[in-house]
Amino acid sequence: MNIYDTKQIKCYRCGKFIGEVDYDVEIICPKCGSCSDPFPLDAIIITNKIMKSRETN
Ligand SMILES: [Zn+2]
Repeated sequence: MNIYDTKQIKCYRCGKFIGEVDYDVEIICPKCGSCSDPFPLDAIIITNKIMKSRETN
């Protein structure tokens, strides 16, 4: 598996880097922790698993 087959996910509101996922993963309106009020990362809807996800607070 190629390590470069990932894409960076940024918060759609503030542009903050959230993490990296498989390149074919679709994420709808990703939000960082501070932009998503009730749910930290649950607001991120994915159709595949997250390979690497890091909060960079
Ligand atoms: Zn944000």
